[in-house]
Amino acid sequence: MVTRHVNFNAGPSTLPLPALERAQAERLDYEGSGMSIIEHSHRGAVYEAVHNETIALLTELLAIPDTHQVLFMQGGATAQFALVPMNLRTDARAGDYVVTGTWAKKALSEASIVGTPHKAWDGEQDGKWTRVPKADELDLTDDAPYVHIASNNTIMGTQFFDYPKTKAPLVVDMSSDIMWRPVDVSQLGMIYAGAQKNMGPSGITLVIIRKDLLEQGRTDIPKIFRYAEVAKANSLQNTIATFPVYMIRNTMLWLKEQGGLPAMEKHNRDKAAALYGAIDGSDGFYRCPVEEASRSVMNVVFRLPSEEQEKKFVADATAAGLVGLKGHRSVGGIRASIYNAMTREGVDKLIQFMAAFKNGGA
Ligand SMILES: *Cc1c(COP(=O)(O)O)cnc(C)c1O
Repeated sequence: MVTRHVNFNAGPSTLPLPALERAQAERLDYEGSGMSIIEHSHRGAVYEAVHNETIALLTELLAIPDTHQVLFMQGGATAQFALVPMNLRTDARAGDYVVTGTWAKKALSEASIVGTPHKAWDGEQDGKWTRVPKADELDLTDDAPYVHIASNNTIMGTQFFDYPKTKAPLVVDMSSDIMWRPVDVSQLGMIYAGAQKNMGPSGITLVIIRKDLLEQGRTDIPKIFRYAEVAKANSLQNTIATFPVYMIRNTMLWLKEQGGLPAMEKHNRDKAAALYGAIDGSDGFYRCPVEEASRSVMNVVFRLPSEEQEKKFVADATAAGLVGLKGHRSVGGIRASIYNAMTREGVDKLIQFMAAFKNGGA
């Protein structure tokens, strides 16, 4: 018997059971090929079929138009913090950055090593990272080659539900909310996302980039870092991380079976409403610091009356099989990451645990 915990980890995070079971079934012999998918050459026909199927599934599910191209890269979302300004800056000028949390701040910091970015909004001064700005609050410049936002702030528990309309191409770090709902890709210059939160295991970063930006990309950087070269090679410049791509495929097959992104949006909104409802309905015992309009449907953060109680909450929850609830070390508190693969049943178990803990009987 396998015992699987209810896993609220922020990333790497829970994956759909059918995607894992499929990997288990195919582990030793992938589709009668006599070997595991991870033993195949990344240039062979068997892996190539998985590679192209994964791109096709992503394209279908996200309705990615012909104007954009799908890339797989390595180095995580963190590498993209550097690669975006390296590829897209004009002379020294890097983009305008909307700083809504730890990751967005790191993106800005990396851009300042490469060139001269501009801070278009600072969420640290505005209270304590408890909301995302409205479009009219942004201080955007005329000569920015792009505008950078993080659509979901994994640590702060805030999320953009409407992206700002910008003159310069919008570059969106969707690491922790890619595929939570349908998105109009045609409106965006570039999307990037580490796979390990909502798509698969760690080791691959998905990049979706407008083709004209590819073509305009700088050529004074090594080829391995150029989006245009990655695109030209169909992401197979060198040995790709084959297993993460394969696992993304399994997750996407599951997602499609669930009814695609419209079904995911309903599923995610439903879970988040239930959990925020439990927090708000606890007579102040549990408290969400995030402003209502900015509350993330992916990472739900909340506090208890004291840090001692938070410690006990995490320990008791872990003992009850609800794991990964400790908030990020930089902010403390509790964080429940409820990505696509988190079931409604898992969230209900947490809600029941919260009620029992509040009554002292957990
Ligand atoms: C996790 C995360 C990152 C960092 O991802 P790595 O793949 O570890 O580099 C960046 N941005 C956001 C929004 C994240 O949630």
